[in-house]
Amino acid sequence: MRIILLGPPGSGKGTQGEMIFKKYHLPRISTGDILREAIKKGTPLGRQAEAEMKAGHLVSDEIVASLVAERIRQADCARGYVLDGFPRTINQVKLLERMADCQKEVVFEIYVPEEIIIERLSHRRICSSCGAVYNIVTSPPQRPDLCDLCGGRLIQRDDDRPEVIRERLRIYEAEIKEILDYYREKGNFYRVEGTGSAEEVFEKIESHLASELEERSVQKGMAER
Ligand code: AMP
Repeated sequence: MRIILLGPPGSGKGTQGEMIFKKYHLPRISTGDILREAIKKGTPLGRQAEAEMKAGHLVSDEIVASLVAERIRQADCARGYVLDGFPRTINQVKLLERMADCQKEVVFEIYVPEEIIIERLSHRRICSSCGAVYNIVTSPPQRPDLCDLCGGRLIQRDDDRPEVIRERLRIYEAEIKEILDYYREKGNFYRVEGTGSAEEVFEKIESHLASELEERSVQKGMAER
């Protein structure tokens, strides 16, 4: 199953993707994480993407689509995967459609009002070493600025600064309508309220996933008869 998580930056796609991974063992593919890792390692891809990411702009469709295509070919994606942060333009939607890997698709839009997004992103800190995510107000680390898991230093992402957040939200709003229209029309699309605790949001996602999985096993059973 291919699960697509749509939603503005800070809507909790990463957290929900991790929770889906823990429960269903479907790997989370975050194009943002892949690009940040490339920047950290100083690869040619990282050097190409860095300026765009710092400014809150999108990296080219072809670059991100080829990263995804390469990732989903790996063995751990054979049963399915969760896409977090891709597709982000209608062109990326079309590029994804061409990566025909016979996965049943379920799409979630995680909806969160803009004022909550800005507050969440400006409070977000990530571990510079292991990437764990904290919110300095709602889920602070035990020791200030240090990761509970590995002791690494917590930093604010360059693109989580207020002026960049606004630019990222502007781009999201400009691109998302067409994508939502497309998936709404295609079916297997769910809109989930992303406020409340991570567990509450996951409960809603899970109930839809359970019915999709049930439907799939009924269909499989009928095909086998
Ligand atoms: P994220 O971690 O998903 O918020 O992504 C951080 C940044 O990575 C974005 O602001 C973009 O600069 C870049 N990025 C991640 N995913 C994509 C994508 N699908 N298309 C274009 N740029 C992306």
